[in-house]
Amino acid sequence: MINYDHIMVRFGELSTKGKNKKDFINTLATNITGALKDFKDLTFGTSYDHIYVGLNNTPYQPVIERLQDVSGIYALSLVYRSEKDLNAIKENALALIKEEEGKTFKVKTKRGDKSYPLISDEITRAVAGHILRNTDDLKVDVHNPDILLSIEVRYEAAYIFTKTVLGAGGYPLGVGGKTMHMLSGGIDSPVAAYLMMKRGVSIECIHFASPPYTQMGVIYKLEDLLKTLNHYQPRIRLHIIPFTKIQEAIYDNAPECYCITLMRRMMFRLADALAKRRRCPVISSGESIGQVASQTIQSMHVINAVTNTPVIRPLATTDKVEIIKISKKIGTYDISIRPYEDCCTIFTPKAPKTMPHLDEVEALEKKWDYESLIKEALANVEVKIITSEENKEEFL
Ligand code: ATP
Ligand code: MG
Repeated sequence: MINYDHIMVRFGELSTKGKNKKDFINTLATNITGALKDFKDLTFGTSYDHIYVGLNNTPYQPVIERLQDVSGIYALSLVYRSEKDLNAIKENALALIKEEEGKTFKVKTKRGDKSYPLISDEITRAVAGHILRNTDDLKVDVHNPDILLSIEVRYEAAYIFTKTVLGAGGYPLGVGGKTMHMLSGGIDSPVAAYLMMKRGVSIECIHFASPPYTQMGVIYKLEDLLKTLNHYQPRIRLHIIPFTKIQEAIYDNAPECYCITLMRRMMFRLADALAKRRRCPVISSGESIGQVASQTIQSMHVINAVTNTPVIRPLATTDKVEIIKISKKIGTYDISIRPYEDCCTIFTPKAPKTMPHLDEVEALEKKWDYESLIKEALANVEVKIITSEENKEEFL
């Protein structure tokens, strides 16, 4: 019996080259070792276009499942690292295919080591012939084989494999910089956060809390959401902004139908200031076009007018059904549906403006000194670090 001994991590076709490619691979390698830190016997190796995880008798299934959540991985193959000698390749390929179920097979060879004495076709034929001679009921089918046996001859070794699964795709977390992500306790914003991370952008989160209208329960909910997102980013900084006074001032000074528009403009002003303070070049949110009054494109235009910072809305065109599907997949759904009040739900007017006008909104805002309230809120931010790592303090 022969055992697969490595997992080959593939990046797919990288559009990046040179230094960016190096950064990509180094970041991915760091993320992979971090994600697999609980598996004590693994070893790691990097080549110019693959990362190898040595299993050293660790069961492969949980390792592969964990790796499938690491962004920047195109595909994962469970491989056997063989001597490059043709006889060794033949014997190992035969032993591996005997473990497989199926009646037909195909051998496919890729030769990365151009100095190897045989070309791909010759290796394929030699191995296929050896398998046919030494098995009873396996036949070749080049179009639709039950078993695809791949051989990759590289400089350091030959890799033989039959199983490849897709990874999460995207880019390694960290290569895309950092966003200030607006996190509510709802379904959408944790999904949007996940999509940002999948694209390689790490997140800091900002949350607007309005005690006593909103309760501590919301904060526990956010902590649970972020603990789930720690699966993709092991340390997440959460900034909790005291929002009550700003919200009350809006309700004291503006007609009810404009309150949501004004409230969201204040949120974006605060997010913008914090993004600058924390050196995040962009802001992101869970907004989705048309979902509620404040998310019509006219509302987005008026709300977004308070900042030049790009606001990325990964869910802008995603239907709710699809958003829910992703939230279930990443494990945030059950936490998001816990019934705690959000500042938006509490102050929701009966008939919010779906077509607010920028000049009217700006005239309303002139009626009171919101800037000093914003300054005060920013001076009283509470920070929490949500992490799955042990050394919390180091990050503070
Ligand atoms: P979600 O499901 O993410 O709560 P939603 O459908 O309830 O979204 P809104 O309440 O209009 O929609 O909020 C739109 C986006 O604004 C949210 O996805 C989030 O990014 C941000 N947001 C809303 N409320 C807050 C809050 N209290 N703190 C931080 N961000 C918020
Ligand atoms: Mg919400």
